[in-house]
Amino acid sequence: MNDLLVRARTAASTVCDPEIPVLTIADLGMLRDVRLSGDTVEVEITPTYSGCPAMNMIALEIETALHQAGIPHARVTTTLTPAWTTDWLTAEGREKLRAYGIAPPPPASTRRALFGETTTICPRCSSPDTEQLAEFGSTSCKSLWRCRACREPFDLFKCH
Ligand SMILES: [Zn+2]
Repeated sequence: MNDLLVRARTAASTVCDPEIPVLTIADLGMLRDVRLSGDTVEVEITPTYSGCPAMNMIALEIETALHQAGIPHARVTTTLTPAWTTDWLTAEGREKLRAYGIAPPPPASTRRALFGETTTICPRCSSPDTEQLAEFGSTSCKSLWRCRACREPFDLFKCH
């Protein structure tokens, strides 16, 4: 990979999701591709959910990050298919969510094989004895849960 692309990828990887500031778009698996088209760096992203008002902001932040890395010509494109799922979250991203006090979604494969439906693990004490309090938490991307073991409320990251 040429030097310009390495710099572009590194810069784009540092952009965070405005909804969950501890996660970068790389952690979320939203960063699909960084490629060169003529003298323009094209960054391809897949939104975590369609119609997310944060997406324009993310595109702007990526362009800004690339400009600051000395890349004058940058374009952000959005790809909707295949649709982003929580399975695209990296292991590091899941760990950061947990450390932030948000329960990461279990991988879809585990969910189907073991539980048949979602089992939510408390991010604080790891107890599976949890209950949903509200469908929407602090943002539409999260739902509000409570742990019966440690009695603490927490957010579940629930996109898809
Ligand atoms: Zn707990």
